[in-house]
Amino acid sequence: MNIIKWLKRRRTRHTLKKHSIPYFLWQKSLRKATFLHDLSSVEKSQLRKLTTLFLHQKAVNGTRDFELSDEMLIVIAAQASLPILKLGLNYYNNWVEVIVYPGAFRVNHNSVDAIGVNENETNTLSGEAWLRGPVVLSWDAIEHDLHAPHLGHNVVIHEFAHKLDMLDGSADGLPPLHPTMQVKQWADALSTAYTMLRQQVAHHHRTRIDAYAATTPAEFFAVVSEYFFAAPNILNQHCPEVYLQLVQFYRQDPLARQAHKN
Ligand SMILES: [Zn+2]
Repeated sequence: MNIIKWLKRRRTRHTLKKHSIPYFLWQKSLRKATFLHDLSSVEKSQLRKLTTLFLHQKAVNGTRDFELSDEMLIVIAAQASLPILKLGLNYYNNWVEVIVYPGAFRVNHNSVDAIGVNENETNTLSGEAWLRGPVVLSWDAIEHDLHAPHLGHNVVIHEFAHKLDMLDGSADGLPPLHPTMQVKQWADALSTAYTMLRQQVAHHHRTRIDAYAATTPAEFFAVVSEYFFAAPNILNQHCPEVYLQLVQFYRQDPLARQAHKN
C-alpha cells in the first residue's frame, strides 16, 4: 500500500472513531427518512459511517442566513450517501460543496455545465448539480419528498444521480458502468423505456413515472434513480429492465430489501 493510501485509511479510521455521528442524533434524523427504514441493521451501520465521512469531506452549507441544524445536515448527507452505499465515497470525488436554499431558487446562468431539475413552471429550481462543481438543493423540496416517499420523488437522490452520471465528464444518462455490466444492455433498457415515456408524454397520456424524466436521457436516469430508491415497486412495475440495470449499477436491490423486511 502506498503512503497516500495508508494516510487516507488512517484518517478515515480516525474520523469514524472520533467524529462519528452520535447515535441518538442519527436515530432522530433517520426517523424523518422513512424510506431508509428498509435497510438492514448492517446497511444502516454502513450508511451511518458513510454519512459521517460525507459530512467530513463535503461542505454542506445553507445560503446566506439559512442555518442548517445537525439533523438537517444528517438528513441530507444520509440520502446523498444511499446511492453510493455499495460504491464508496470515491464516486463523489472532485467536488466538495453542497449548497442548500431554504426554498425553490432562481438561477441566472447560461453554463452548459449545469444540469438542473426544474420542478415547476416558473423557472425556479428545487435542485441542481454542476459538473465538477456543487450540488444545490432546496430544503423545502427535501422535506416535501420526505413526507411522501411512496410517490417516488427525491430531489437529493436526483441530484446525486446526476453527479454519478457526470463522473465520465458528461451528463448523458450513462454513468461509468462496472466491468461486469454491458453498455449495450444498459442502453437498450434505458433508451427503450425513455422512448416509450416520451411517446406517452407526446400523446398526453398520464404516466406513472414522472413526465420530467422524458426531458433528456440524463433526466431519465436521475428520475428513475429516485424511484429506484424511494419507490422501487413503481419502477419495477413500469420499467422492469431499467430496474435490473440499476440493481447492477448501484449494487443494491431495494425491492428485495422491502420484501425481506415485510
Ligand atoms: Zn435533473
